[in-house]
This record gives sequence, structure tokens and C-alpha cells, in this order.
Amino acid sequence: MDPGTGKGSPSEEGETSLNATRVDWLREAERIGRRLDLLGAISEGEGALNRPPFTRSLCRAMEETARWMEEAGLRPAVDAFGNLRGWGVRENQEPVLLIGSHLDTVPGGGRFDGALGILLGISAAEILQDRAGSLPFALDILAFQEEEGARFRSGCLGSRAFLGLLEEKDWNLEDSSGISLREAHDSFSIQGWPRMEPDPREKLLGYCEAHIEQGPQLEALGVPLGVALGIVAQERLLLSFLGEGGHAGCVPMSARRDALCAAAAFVAFVEEASRREPGAVATVGELHCLPGAVNVIPKRVDLSVDLRHPEEAALDRLSQALLERAEEIGRDRGIEVGWRRTQRLPPVRSDPDWQDRLSSVITTIQGKAPRLWSGAGHDAGVFGRLVPMVLLFVRCRGGVSHDPAELVSPSDTARALEALVGFVEGFLP
Ligand SMILES: [Zn+2]
Repeated sequence: MDPGTGKGSPSEEGETSLNATRVDWLREAERIGRRLDLLGAISEGEGALNRPPFTRSLCRAMEETARWMEEAGLRPAVDAFGNLRGWGVRENQEPVLLIGSHLDTVPGGGRFDGALGILLGISAAEILQDRAGSLPFALDILAFQEEEGARFRSGCLGSRAFLGLLEEKDWNLEDSSGISLREAHDSFSIQGWPRMEPDPREKLLGYCEAHIEQGPQLEALGVPLGVALGIVAQERLLLSFLGEGGHAGCVPMSARRDALCAAAAFVAFVEEASRREPGAVATVGELHCLPGAVNVIPKRVDLSVDLRHPEEAALDRLSQALLERAEEIGRDRGIEVGWRRTQRLPPVRSDPDWQDRLSSVITTIQGKAPRLWSGAGHDAGVFGRLVPMVLLFVRCRGGVSHDPAELVSPSDTARALEALVGFVEGFLP
């Protein structure tokens, strides 16, 4: 495949080989924008974008992405899980530098979350194609399934499967219709696709992911790009408050043991305590009140807490403060409080050397390279536990994500592509 297919100015200037310094970045970014529009229209049903894993829409998005991989000179193939991989030129068999992100979206999602990182990777591979022989590694592009965890309530299933980290119990995870991951996977047709399994002995150089920031920090700093220090530590708790029900009209206030009033005091404390701990975020996102009737005193409340902080020690401190306060509220109000920890993930740091490499490229492009923590999980976090990882953040308008209003400007996309290509070129001897 001619690496110059569909390209702009470099070949028009009579160059036979693409020189990254001569790439028309904005023109490339506009092509990425058209591809994002195309992918953004591939959705389950009408209306807002919804591309869950193991669906017809995901398969169609894979077909388009595979076509672009071929245009970029890559060989597309799927693994046993259903992740798509564009295999680059393998003049240097090992190690392999992986660039990737995810193709699935949340219901009502945006066009850029995940897809932008894959398309930037494909364009970067195409630009670097003519120098693939001089790169001291192979360069492959990955498009994962079920990063969001929106269907099976467990994130990064595709990247975990890619690295052989999926556990047997994960296959029993069910979606809201009771369909298990195993059933959804088995009914998803990957027949007709070229198959290629990751070789467990394959030596990986590391993993690089470009992703929208999903927050407002880069916009506030007035720059398009940033380097993620890593992905923050995370804890999830479930608490229950058990009081006494009764008639809303007949039980005097002094005699009540209202579970919701206790829970409300706790929720207020979650906000207060996390504001006191710099760098922390805490969210009570689910709250169920029983029996839940207008004229009945709440007997039981179950609620979830999601806590995140870059440092595990701070997360421990916050978590302990919340649980102590919950018990105190229970004692004061005659409410039985129960809790359990449902998730605990340590932070994952981007590789320090790779952070520096990416920072120096970004500094050349925009004068400075802010480093910020990712509050959201990414496939990069799965890789970062095993191999060097770096995460390039791209400014998104208003910090909005998981929403149809998600937007990255073409000029920011152009800079992200320039940074990604520059990062890979930095490894050239
Ligand atoms: Zn994402």
C-alpha cells in the first residue's frame, strides 16, 4: 500500500518519502475529523450515540477502522476477545510499541472519547510508515472493546483480555438484559475477520494512548495538550442505613429513627470531607430509599460512594474519616450502619522517562507541558501496571465528555497528532 494514499502536501511537493516536518497537520486533523463524524454516526438505534461492545454498531465501527488501518499500511486483525489490531511493518520484530484506545461508547456519548485516540494512532502510523524500517521497534495500533464498562459494569475488559488478565468470573458478568459477557462475545461475529492472537512471549516496548482530558484543566490553562501523571487511586463503598419505618403523620419527630435523614447527614459529610482533602473527589451516585413512599418514614437507605485521589494514603485517610462519621451518625440517631468495600484500585503512574519524552515534544509545540492526573480510568491504566505507559491528554471544550456536546477543535487534533508522531520519532536512533 502506498503510504502516500490520501495524503496532502508532502507528495505534492514531489517527495517520495513522507517527512513528518513537512506534514500538513491541520489537513490530517480534518481527515481525522471526517472519520470521527463517520464513526459518530454508527450507533445502536436512532438518536444519541450509543455503541456498546459486542453489537452490530461496534462491528460496523471496526470495519471502518480496519479499512483506515489498511489505508495506513497496517494489517488489521482481531484477537479472540474481539479487539481490533492494526499490525505495523515488522522489519524489527520486537519490541512492539502499542498505540491505542477504545471503540465502544457510553449511551448518549460523544464522538471523541476513545475514537480520537485510535484515529490519531492510525494517522501517526501512516505518517511514520516510510520510516518504519528505521524505528527500533514495531508500531501497532489497537482498538479495544468495553473500556467504558457501560454494558457489563466492569471497565477495560478488552485491554485486560489483550494482556491475558481477564478472569474466569469476568465471563459471567451480565448486562441489564441478563446476557452474560460469554453469550454476548459468542454471538458477536468475528468470522470472516483475519485472526491474530497476542503472543504471550511478545516483548512490548510499552503503550501510548491519546485521549480527551474529560475535564476542564487544559482549557483553564489555555493549552491544547497535557501529559497525564497517571491514573488516580480509586475506592468504592456501599453503605446501608437501617432505621425504623412508620406513619408519616402519626410518629412524632422526637420518636423517629429516619434512615434517610441519617443518610442525608452522611452525604453532606462526604462533600465536606472531600473538599477538605486537596486532590480528592468523592461522589454519592446511587441512593435507594425503602420503602420509598410519600407518607412512610424511610426505614432503609443503601448508597454508593466513589472516592478518588492520586495518593493512596490520602484515599485511606478520607475513606476512614467517612466510615467513622457514618458510625457516629448511626450512634447519635439510633440507626444501624453497615458498609462494604466493593473496589480498591491503586494509582497507576505514567512511566517517568516517557512522561519526560512526551513533555519535551509538547513543550516544543505549545511552549509548556502541563502534567495532570487522570481522574478517569483508561486502557492505559491496565497496561501501566505491566509495561511503560504514557497518556497524552487533549483539551475538550468545556471539559465536557460522555455527552453529545463533546468537542475537540481541528487545530487541537492537529497538535495532538504532531505530539504523537514526535513522541514516536523521539525513539529513532
Ligand atoms: Zn475513553
